[in-house]
Amino acid sequence: MDTHFFKKLYVGFIILSFFSCVGEKRDFNTDILSNVESENRWDSALPQTAVHDHVIAHFSEKNGKVKKALIIGLDGTRPDAAVQAGMIGKISNIVPGMKFYYSYAGGDWKNGTQQPTITAPGWTTIMTGVWANQHGISTNDSGNKNPATKTFCQKVYDMDNNREVAVIAAWENITELGTYGDENVYTYTPDDGYYKKPEDYDTKDPRVVEKTIELIEDDYACIFNVIDFTDHTGHLNQFSPFNTTYVDEIERALGMAEEMINAAKGRSKFADEDWLFIITTDHGGVGMGHGGQSLPERTTFIYTNKTIN
Ligand SMILES: [Zn+2]
Repeated sequence: MDTHFFKKLYVGFIILSFFSCVGEKRDFNTDILSNVESENRWDSALPQTAVHDHVIAHFSEKNGKVKKALIIGLDGTRPDAAVQAGMIGKISNIVPGMKFYYSYAGGDWKNGTQQPTITAPGWTTIMTGVWANQHGISTNDSGNKNPATKTFCQKVYDMDNNREVAVIAAWENITELGTYGDENVYTYTPDDGYYKKPEDYDTKDPRVVEKTIELIEDDYACIFNVIDFTDHTGHLNQFSPFNTTYVDEIERALGMAEEMINAAKGRSKFADEDWLFIITTDHGGVGMGHGGQSLPERTTFIYTNKTIN
């Protein structure tokens, strides 16, 4: 047995892990995030299932006010890039008490719940509060979700049948497959589904925003939507807080988030209502893609005006 060989192999492994670790940390920019006042640390992040639990906790609490929720999804938005795009200042200016939580996509380590850090599994986990091993959407084309796992929208309706609830997104894999079996959830996808031609990128997401505002004004209790171009621009340019096109597009999406939150605040009954606002994402990204289990792909965020218990 050549022990020398194994020793060399071992040293090589240590050096390799050191560099991959440094590379990862540099890419997931903790310098940008170190200025953010957060409720937890990136290494004690909440599972992305916490979004579902947070919505259910909000509607379960009784405080004499009419409960409402607007959950805004920015697809493929890294937390460091969201901060770079000015999310903290922009949103906390219009909603007091916003709190920043680190969260993670991709399942838990080593217990059979790992799933790729991609769109359909991620949003379905956020909506249902369980990982793909339960909701059944483990890839972007796995078909319908397991109808026994319900989205928070359906559960909010089940608590009170007078409530109207909706899921709105440019991609029908989220609105239709991801809510499959949730009979009381209104779903909306502009035109005939996912981006068919390049100019759709300029029109689909604004129509998601328009529809959301229409439903806010129409007294819906719980609305979840997904803005998609943030992910698309990451694939075209790079998922990086230093890529100006990616960051600029996140800034544009945050402008849409402001518009939707302001529509809620502008309601004549706003003073009698208790609104939960959440901005979150389904996964991060590294280089020009995502899907793996690296830190920049797994790390996500939950930005909300209520404490997560
Ligand atoms: Zn995505």
